[in-house]
Amino acid sequence: MTKGPRKRLASEVETLVLTQSRRRCCLCFVLDVDSSAKPDGQIAHVNHDPANADVDNLVYLCLRHHNLYDSVPSQSKALTAAELKHYRVEMYRSLGTATTKDAPTSPNRSQIRLPAAIRRDCAVHNVKPTDLTNFILGEASRHSMLFAHPFTSLPLVYRQYVLLVSWDLVQVRAERLLDREQAYPLNDVWGACLGLYRRTTLLSYRTRGPHELSLGYAERSVLATYRSLVAAADNYLSLLRRNGRNPSATYDNLEALVEEAEFALANGDVGAAISRLEIVLSTVHKLILNWAPQGHGPIAEREATDVAEVPESSAPSVLVVDDDRRLRELVKLILNTGGYSVTAVGSLSDALRAMIGHDFDLVLTDVVMPGGDGRELALIARRSSQKAKVMAMSGYERMAIMGELGVEEFIQKPFTAESLLRVVSGLVGVSSTPPIT
Ligand SMILES: [Zn+2]
Repeated sequence: MTKGPRKRLASEVETLVLTQSRRRCCLCFVLDVDSSAKPDGQIAHVNHDPANADVDNLVYLCLRHHNLYDSVPSQSKALTAAELKHYRVEMYRSLGTATTKDAPTSPNRSQIRLPAAIRRDCAVHNVKPTDLTNFILGEASRHSMLFAHPFTSLPLVYRQYVLLVSWDLVQVRAERLLDREQAYPLNDVWGACLGLYRRTTLLSYRTRGPHELSLGYAERSVLATYRSLVAAADNYLSLLRRNGRNPSATYDNLEALVEEAEFALANGDVGAAISRLEIVLSTVHKLILNWAPQGHGPIAEREATDVAEVPESSAPSVLVVDDDRRLRELVKLILNTGGYSVTAVGSLSDALRAMIGHDFDLVLTDVVMPGGDGRELALIARRSSQKAKVMAMSGYERMAIMGELGVEEFIQKPFTAESLLRVVSGLVGVSSTPPIT
């Protein structure tokens, strides 16, 4: 870069930088959590070019950071111009001195990398790499907070695909372009099966008694529900087998049991019909439990472990999913105090198991967890339950993707007990006074 002669800063420009920064050094402020004023600091030129005296190119730094930043060439790995600008905006926002011009730094075209793996994916799906670059730039400008913080993997919905990207404030790397079946391999079909299973367990002859079935008129809809359930289970079985899994043959041929039940009903033998239908139900229950998807990893038949216990209560039920045990217990405590019935689990697979046994009012999930993530859980909850609302908690400021996958609310970590209760009660409120009728 050709460096022009150092220009003396116009006094109004200088004043703006000094007042906006409150003479705080953004590197001390963000990286060292040191918010004290640095009276001996200096104004540095972000691009190392002293001729460029635009406000956007100026940053107030303490003397130590000023010397450190000035001594390295502009393309140095040590600290890039983009990082410096980012920390400046972050500090201005914290100080409350940010203006509309101080939007978080979004990546530009030259910061987007498409490594070999993604170029292969593009070839497979017949997608132009430049279209992906344009899509990422479009997302970045549509959701200004999306790139406010670094992240290791964020899925973006691109047409019928899921695009995984990472961002370290310097580079956006497009990691993989997967079709949705690949990205969420089994969950959607499994979720559909779970939804039907739950609906079947709530049929009136099961909740109110067999006489409901002997009334005749319920017969047709009960059998139709079972047929849908069997079709969903078959769907899931064939998907498992297409993916090289080998669930046992005991899950097959459930249709025959439904036929037998129909025959028994036609002969007025309600007891025999119910016993056949119960076999269907418990078989599907085992299928859902033993072959629950576990994140993106492989699944294998295993002994069913205990399903997390859901307290019997008329209070709104909340499933809390976070791999951080301390936070999980804290959230549980807060929500218990707020009058909710809370089940807390630490992994996606435990969450899936808990969802088999109970139709929660709210699923409150961390976004990133080992063995799968909150997005998958959101997908399943939405598919398998009519009533469950889904709320995400995350260290990121906003996850645009969560909206697209049907998450009702979002809370940023760390949060206070008050703010958590406020957001949760907005979704599934506990009313402190009984309604007057
Ligand atoms: Zn400093």
